[in-house]
Amino acid sequence: MAEQECIFCRIGRGEVPSEFFYRDEVVFVIGNINPEAPVHLLVIPFAHVEALAEEPGESLATLHALFAGAAGGAREAGVANQGYRLVVNQGPNAGQEVTHLHMHLLAGRRLGGMG
Ligand code: AMP
Ligand code: ZN
Repeated sequence: MAEQECIFCRIGRGEVPSEFFYRDEVVFVIGNINPEAPVHLLVIPFAHVEALAEEPGESLATLHALFAGAAGGAREAGVANQGYRLVVNQGPNAGQEVTHLHMHLLAGRRLGGMG
């Protein structure tokens, strides 16, 4: 999907209003519009990276920022101490809906199995 229409690019550009839990130069953290846990955040790079291995040269920096963003979002949402789960859906078998790399942060209740 082109960056022009990509919903996460549009949110990152400020074109679609969203509550930001954390942001730095590389990633931003928003609440999931359709939460699957009491706290369900999405950690999203500003850059339109479609797949985990798409940019080998830059992916380590992006991955580092995703985890730092998750920790920042967890702190801001008040779930850093009670615990949370981080999930990346990559490709069709994982049910990835938005083809812009993002990490889910699930928290707020005892989470079930791993799928
Ligand atoms: P995935 O299946 O990993 O691609 O997950 C995409 C997630 O993005 C889903 O959980 C959606 O609920 C969520 N989502 C889609 N559009 C928005 C939006 N505008 N704001 C917040 N979350 C969204
Ligand atoms: Zn995008």
